[in-house]
This record gives sequence, C-alpha cells and structure tokens, in this order.
Amino acid sequence: MTDLQKLIQLQEIDSELKELNDLLGDLPAKVNNLRQEESNLEQSVADGENRLKEIELDLSKMELSETEIKEKIGKYKDQLYLVTNNKQYDALMHEIDHLKEELDQQETRDLELREEQTELQESTKSKAMTLKTLREDLRVRVDRLEKMIEESAEKKAALEERRNEQVSTISAIIIARYHRVIQARHGMAVVNVEGTACGGCGSMVPPQIVAEVKAGKGIHNCDVCSRFLYWAE
Ligand SMILES: [Zn+2]
Repeated sequence: MTDLQKLIQLQEIDSELKELNDLLGDLPAKVNNLRQEESNLEQSVADGENRLKEIELDLSKMELSETEIKEKIGKYKDQLYLVTNNKQYDALMHEIDHLKEELDQQETRDLELREEQTELQESTKSKAMTLKTLREDLRVRVDRLEKMIEESAEKKAALEERRNEQVSTISAIIIARYHRVIQARHGMAVVNVEGTACGGCGSMVPPQIVAEVKAGKGIHNCDVCSRFLYWAE
C-alpha cells in the first residue's frame, strides 16, 4: 500500500472520529437540558402549590373576619333601637358605616384571591400533567442518550486503536504534514481531484500534477489549501 493510500484510510478514520466527537460533545448537553426542563417544571408546580395553600389560608382567615364584622354590624343595628339621643345614634351609625366599608374591602380582596386561586389551580394542574408526561418521555430519552454515549465511547476507543496502527505505518514527515493540514482545514486533509480542481478548496490543479495524481505517482498537495490530493476512480 502506498503512503497516499494509507493517508486516505487515515482520513476516513479521522472523519469518523470527528463525527463521533461531535456527537459525544452534544449528547451530555442534551441530557442536561432535558433534566433542567424537568427541574424547572417541578419548581413551577411546587411554587403554584405553595401559593394555593397560602391563598386557602388567607381565604379562611378572611371568612372568619367577615363573620365577625357582620356580627358586630348586627349588634350595633340592634343597639340603634335602644338609643335615647341623636348623638348616640350618630355615633352608632358612624361605627356601622366604618364596619361596612371594611367589609366591602374584604369582599373585594376575597374576590381577587378567588380569581387568582382559580387561575392558579388550572395552570398548576396543567403543568403537573406536562411534568408527568415529560418524566416518562425524559426517562426514555435519557436512557437512549446514555446508551448512545456508551456505544460511541466504545466505537471511539476502537477507532483510536485503528488510528494508532495506521499512523505507525506512515512516515513521520508525512504524518506531521498531515496533522498540520487537518488542523488548519477543519478535519479534512485528504481530498480527491475533481476534473482539474482541488476537491477541498476548488482551486485549479496544474495539468502535470493532475496527471501524476491520476497515475498515483508520489505525494501531492494543493498549492492553495495544502490538502493531500488523490484521484478517485
Ligand atoms: Zn485546495
């Protein structure tokens, strides 16, 4: 096997490794995103439930206080029949008006709280349902992703072993050049000549070089992008 043929194989291994590394790079982030989504939803459901408890407590306190106010108003109204002068009457009426105002405010607040309660009950219920579905879905997806990570890691180890073997059969000078090019050219160091153009950057390759590449004579690099050139049958 010529050095060029070995380089073509090495490029194939490196392309596969690059794909695997990209995949492995993305997967843990995907797992994290799914977990984050679940935990955000959990927090939101818990917040909703806590607020609902607060509202319930407030409502029952207000109910008590409304009953008390109503009783007081009733008592003052009864006393109205017993007053003997205008001054006492005015004083009682003033108290009653004041209590009615207080009652009015409480009832408004009561309505507001009940409205909030209804909305929150609905949204919390719907979030809880989403959470339930998400959890089931999440488990399946995380399992699948973790299996992929595991399989990719095994595949990567095997490829790296093959890579080391391949590298050891190629001369050190050529390997050094290969590594420089693959780093500079985003993982693609060996390309075929397409007609008279470099398959990597599209630059024109001189006819003499095309002829030699076609004949498989020696090692040639593109003048512009430095990639190794071969002729694909
Ligand atoms: Zn080129």
